[in-house]
Amino acid sequence: MPAAERTASAPQPLTALSEDEQLFQTTVRKFAREEIRPHVREMDEAGVFRKDIIRQFFEMGLMGIEIPEEYGGQGGNFFQAILAVEELSAVDPSAGVIVDVQNTICNNALLRWATPAQKSRYLPRLATQMVASYALSEAGSGSDAFAMATRALDCGDYFVLDGRKLWITNAAEAGFFLLFANAHPEAGHRGITAFLIEREFPGFQVGKKEDKLGIRASSTCELILDGCRVPRENVMGEVGQGYKIAMETLNEGRIGIGAQMIGLARGALDHAVAYARQRKQFGKAIGEFQGVQFDLARMATEIEAARLLVYNAARLRDAGRPFLTEAAMAKYYSSEVAEKCASKAIEVHGGVGITKDYPVEKLYRDAKIGRIYEGTSNIQLLTIAKKLLKP
Ligand SMILES: Cc1cc2nc3c(=O)[nH]c(=O)nc-3n(C[C@H](O)[C@H](O)[C@H](O)COP(=O)(O)OP(=O)(O)OC[C@H]3O[C@@H](n4cnc5c(N)ncnc54)[C@H](O)[C@@H]3O)c2cc1C
Repeated sequence: MPAAERTASAPQPLTALSEDEQLFQTTVRKFAREEIRPHVREMDEAGVFRKDIIRQFFEMGLMGIEIPEEYGGQGGNFFQAILAVEELSAVDPSAGVIVDVQNTICNNALLRWATPAQKSRYLPRLATQMVASYALSEAGSGSDAFAMATRALDCGDYFVLDGRKLWITNAAEAGFFLLFANAHPEAGHRGITAFLIEREFPGFQVGKKEDKLGIRASSTCELILDGCRVPRENVMGEVGQGYKIAMETLNEGRIGIGAQMIGLARGALDHAVAYARQRKQFGKAIGEFQGVQFDLARMATEIEAARLLVYNAARLRDAGRPFLTEAAMAKYYSSEVAEKCASKAIEVHGGVGITKDYPVEKLYRDAKIGRIYEGTSNIQLLTIAKKLLKP
């Protein structure tokens, strides 16, 4: 076979990007650096994400990456969503998670499970103007998510939902909530049902916003359902299929959190390299000391390994191949790497690293959440081990 033909048919390296992907990556990177970076500190301190930047996310198509063009979306793929989350998170992991939840969990779930009528009603708005939240967790059900206490009472044409959701990302800004409640508690997790809820539905309210250690500009709120009336046509999938829907979407979402974490880690490394070049001690740039060089080299290696895991999981998903274990590994490892790299980046900065005058202390705070949401590290390890030990 001629060399050119062999190259064309050979599997591509995992980090090889198509022309479209490269262009997309460059555009998001430039946007993050020019439009978001100047506001990162102010948003972190205020604990509020700027509405004008969210508007820009919509204008750039970043909130409907996989939504088909017929619904006003970009008609892109999952891998592009991963690239966007990585690029945004290198500048601000709060920006990364807003786009991540919208694309990798909420839009994705609708694309797979919504009826044509539900798609027509919600996808055009999700692509252009409406922020979405994914509401599964409650005070009493985190890792054991399906032990939820929120109930849905079947009243024929409508359901009445009662309960509380906790820790809901994007909730302060969201107009739309993909929310899980149990319609048949006696059936255990087989009663869990997915509901499409609009913020204005009677009996629905967004409650207290959390004051957090990291990703402070990303809103995390309680949701209150007090006799919330939801039309029957807003049940997504069948009654009782919520468990399957939640599991499937979270598996994809985990790759998104992996992307957030590799972006964060790369951001930390970039800051560390820049500082190592300019800071002088003992008459030289600290980057000339082998001890510092080794720290930077280790960070770069671990980030590359994490990126390969994330990209591979995303490519498997786009290829329609199984990716459950790969997604768990990607999230588990990337969040470890992010925490380690952010910590090391502070050390490379010395004393100033711990001050708010430099961006690395924020990345260190932001990294912590990677090991907690969308399944803690222990839950990812359980998923990986289950496959290993399967008879
Ligand atoms: C900032 C933030 C944003 C979030 N966003 C969302 C969102 O948008 N939507 C949503 O639905 N939820 C969201 N969550 C909730 C998040 O997914 C849960 O916090 C997470 O799943 C862990 O649940 P938990 O907090 O109840 O901890 P727990 O489940 O109580 O876990 C506590 C500890 O016990 C360990 N543990 C528990 N069970 C096991 C086990 N079987 N084996 C070994 N160890 C175990 C855990 O690993 C952890 O270390 C968010 C949380 C935060 C903090």
